[in-house]
Amino acid sequence: MSAPVVRFAPSPTGRLHIGNARTALLNFLLARREGGRFILRLDDTDLVRSTQEFADGIVEDLAWLGIVPDITVRQSERTALYDTAVERLIAMGRLYPCYETAEELERRRKRQLARGLPPVYDRAALKLTAEERARLEAEGRRPHWRFLLEHRVVRWHDLVRGDSHVDCASLSDPVLRREDGTYLYTLPSVVDDLDLGITHVVRGEDHVTNTAVQIQIIEALGGAVPAFGHHNLLTTASGEGLSKRLGHLSLKGLRDGGLEPMAVASLAVLVGSAEAVRPVASLDELAGLVDLGRLSHAPAKFDEAELEGLNARLLHAMPYETAKPRLVSLGADGGPAFWDAVRGNLVRMADVAMWWTVVAGEITPVVTDADFLARARALLPEEPWDGSTWKRWTDAVKAETGAKGRALFMPLRQALTGLDHGPELAALLPLIGRAKVAARLEGRTA
Ligand code: GLU
Repeated sequence: MSAPVVRFAPSPTGRLHIGNARTALLNFLLARREGGRFILRLDDTDLVRSTQEFADGIVEDLAWLGIVPDITVRQSERTALYDTAVERLIAMGRLYPCYETAEELERRRKRQLARGLPPVYDRAALKLTAEERARLEAEGRRPHWRFLLEHRVVRWHDLVRGDSHVDCASLSDPVLRREDGTYLYTLPSVVDDLDLGITHVVRGEDHVTNTAVQIQIIEALGGAVPAFGHHNLLTTASGEGLSKRLGHLSLKGLRDGGLEPMAVASLAVLVGSAEAVRPVASLDELAGLVDLGRLSHAPAKFDEAELEGLNARLLHAMPYETAKPRLVSLGADGGPAFWDAVRGNLVRMADVAMWWTVVAGEITPVVTDADFLARARALLPEEPWDGSTWKRWTDAVKAETGAKGRALFMPLRQALTGLDHGPELAALLPLIGRAKVAARLEGRTA
């Protein structure tokens, strides 16, 4: 494969959700693996709903996932290119003016449905004479413009779905430009894909019909048809579709909820694929697991509970060097020994703060048997302490008091950590240190 050029093309009308992340990642990882380029294209032709804030949010959400585009373009700055394409299509008779109002179209649609006919645009505007058009214009009507589809079957070899086809005879001629001169999505997307040399268009399967239409437009404009791949869509655990406008499972929400970007990326890419869902440590490794041809063709359920589990597993396996910057920003960098002691108990990175407090801050011990703790305190070895100190100490406490098992360990854990669960005390003990341990065994906050 020559180096691919791919694009991710969200409209900045909301924050990205996990389904958008799937599209972005499938494109990005394809480019990454093959040494290609990734373009972020902001589809902001809808000037009313698009905002700078959402555009910034998209860039931020992608960066959080580890996706930094090679180039970013905005459709609102590329109108001249679309205007040129429109002129060419008009000149070749493939774009024609229509004057129907939305109400007229709706009435016609209802009539067709009532007669059991498919609600396809009847091309009435094509039959208008020059005088009729002039009269409509004189009445103040402005045309919207439809692309004249060839009524034929369009075929392509889909990267995900294999041989695909759509019969364009059953489709309405799509409106490319509105009365007010603004563009709908269809044409700008094609013009940009051609202009930017996009080689692979990977997007959700809700775009399959668009692809047939867009292939006809590309061919009309004399462009090279890129490879198309339509991936399955993600739904919520209960099977609903995701909506950007509703903020469903937004990346921002997942990030604010303390989840790791690689946990989110792993699930977004691997769910509904031939690979087992598992936490993958890096985008490069994830890139090696993407196989568009083996994605499931059914919608895939994105389960938030599964995400938590993945997040935990990712942290449990995370090496100290990877965790270090995060530990520093949480004010909890206790070095490799601390990280190795506590990582197995984390579900979210922020949980580390609690264990840092146990080790380096102040906690109030839970004292159930002060006498037992006093006897244990008397047996505390002198420092230096290491990983074997706990065993030496508790063996001595056991011999002295006769306590064993839970009766031996639980009062010590509660006194030393204020909690009844947590990391191995053998690892925590030297990190807490003798002074704090002694104080906590006396029931003092330390
Ligand atoms: N803006 C379109 C969308 O978000 C882009 C689709 C495409 O990738 O062509 O659905």
